[in-house]
Amino acid sequence: MAKEQRSFQTETKKLLDLMIHSIYTNKEIFLRELVSNASDAIDKLKFKSLTENSLLKEDEELGLFIKADIEAKTLTISDNGIGMTREEVVENLGTIAKSGTENFIKSLENVENKENMDMELIGQFGVGFYSAFMVADKVTVVTKSSDSDKGIIWESTGDGTYTIEEIEKADRGTSITLHLKEKTEGDETFEDYTSEYILKNLITKYSNFVRYPVKMEVEKTEYPKKEDGSPDYEAEPTKSKEIETINAMKPIWLKNKNEVKDEEYNDFYKQTFHDWTDPLDVIHSKAEGTVEFTTLLFIPKKAPFDFNTPGFKKGIKLYSKNVFIKDKCEDLLPDYFKFVKGLVDSSDFSLNISREILQKTTQLKVIAKNIEKKVHDSLKYILNSERATYIEFWNEFGKILKNGIYADYGAKDKIADLLIFESSKTKDGEFVTLKEYVDRMEEGQEKIYFAVGNSKATIENSPQMEYFRDKDYEVLYFLDRIDEFITTNLSEFDGKKIQSISKGDVESSTTEEEKKEIKEKQESEKEILEAMKTILGESVKEVRFTNRLKTSPVCIVSGEGSVSLNMEKVLKDYDAFVPKAEKILEINPEHKLYTKIKELYNEDKESQKFKNYTNMLLDQALLMEGLTPANPTEFVNRLTELMVN
Ligand code: ADP
Repeated sequence: MAKEQRSFQTETKKLLDLMIHSIYTNKEIFLRELVSNASDAIDKLKFKSLTENSLLKEDEELGLFIKADIEAKTLTISDNGIGMTREEVVENLGTIAKSGTENFIKSLENVENKENMDMELIGQFGVGFYSAFMVADKVTVVTKSSDSDKGIIWESTGDGTYTIEEIEKADRGTSITLHLKEKTEGDETFEDYTSEYILKNLITKYSNFVRYPVKMEVEKTEYPKKEDGSPDYEAEPTKSKEIETINAMKPIWLKNKNEVKDEEYNDFYKQTFHDWTDPLDVIHSKAEGTVEFTTLLFIPKKAPFDFNTPGFKKGIKLYSKNVFIKDKCEDLLPDYFKFVKGLVDSSDFSLNISREILQKTTQLKVIAKNIEKKVHDSLKYILNSERATYIEFWNEFGKILKNGIYADYGAKDKIADLLIFESSKTKDGEFVTLKEYVDRMEEGQEKIYFAVGNSKATIENSPQMEYFRDKDYEVLYFLDRIDEFITTNLSEFDGKKIQSISKGDVESSTTEEEKKEIKEKQESEKEILEAMKTILGESVKEVRFTNRLKTSPVCIVSGEGSVSLNMEKVLKDYDAFVPKAEKILEINPEHKLYTKIKELYNEDKESQKFKNYTNMLLDQALLMEGLTPANPTEFVNRLTELMVN
């Protein structure tokens, strides 16, 4: 049959036009597309050979070959896969059969900002054969099907037409030759696609786990050896060409879990995710159902150096049948698991754009949900069965989980069971979960209590702790600045309210009698308390008696509905808008200091001494909370006066 010139189908023309004129920057993906087409062609041949034994010669190695010609500025990708007949060439390379692609092009025509929006999508999910026209101004396909004696040569400059002609070809398979575009101003150097170094990089980046060997001729430089056997770099080297397999081929995630040794997982993790340390945990699983996919996830031991910088990007790698699609798919990980590294491979992520657009969102959602559950369950398992390992994890990433609960309202239902805290009942280095806390609550205790402080010692010495020590109630220690903020979303656990020991009214746990007693006392000495409030003015909301103190004279608590003193402190440091914490001065009526104040009041309620003592009482309480007295100079003056008299 003679050489024939034909036109592309209208849709194909449009797609080609897009490829050629788009300013899409990620042009290098053309190689991934062509390599994966070739690998598919070998798959098809293998499948066919199951019923046609004669198709494959004995010992025939199936694979791909990449050849660059620097002089001619061409790049050829060959395979010994199934090949194409004349009809198949016309059908596959001249038309776009998939209606989805048509829809894609239509949707693209209606979009204003084509380059930015949809090009991103193309880059992620592939465009197949036509992507060759992003880097080549002419593409030549030479192919021979396993079903025919003749070969076919197809050629196009992407201008709307192509030529097709029958030729003699000895071997089955397909060779695609790209006549690379000249470098243009501000664009990539397409000649670079003949560089051995660049090609090697692209193959290992995108096609490292393609099942068949991707071979390439590489230049080897060898230096003559010195007498001691070491290479002599001074001498003239000999250069030779060698064929090398560039890709690693074996994706460990497609192996069976019990076939993979721990070491293999660890090595793979360290190589792929550039870490020096073995991971803390490996999660390898296959999901079957509406969406089929394999996940291989790692929980690192150590956070990467840039973890807490804005430059850090979370995400999971995406593969489709061993072929790399995207490095960091953010949608697959919630922020509170942003430390997780890993990949997901799904044959449902077709490299073909058309199907992708239709299915992308629902598929990703299913996978994201699965990943979240797997990570959660795995952490929960470690928490329950390997506490020391979990504490190691917690020290590195606990803040991320806590931050998650604060920043994401829904997170509390998903990860509150992963939180651990030190407490008044844990020994050094031990932690308690909220569940364990609830399970060992004392009889009559209704709430989960926490105390905020910089260190265990500060909390243990704080006056507010006295009441709880006396009752033998466990108190969680919130030692991180962020800890208390989680309670803005996580206000209860297991039906138990979570409450600060220095907020509002703890006496909900005291008996009715105790409550009555303190109320009566307060009523009878109302005038003194009111006089004190007048002296302190706006610095406090209320002055009242408490029975939460046993040996201390005084403490400060914040109002039930207001932000706490600690939160006020933290927010101040961040220069955030600071809602004022309502301060309530609580006095232990049984303490000698109060008896003294009462005396002073009774002697002369207008005296400077009564005023000084009242102010000192507030300053003392502030100091115990780690706050500074409202006026440090006055505080020192009053103290001096007290000391000299
Ligand atoms: P897709 O790969 O998504 O189907 P492409 O545009 O990349 O779309 O390719 C169109 C078709 O051309 C393929 O489905 C395949 O049938 C055929 N084809 C492409 N490359 C090869 C190849 N190297 N060997 C055999 N057939 C090929």
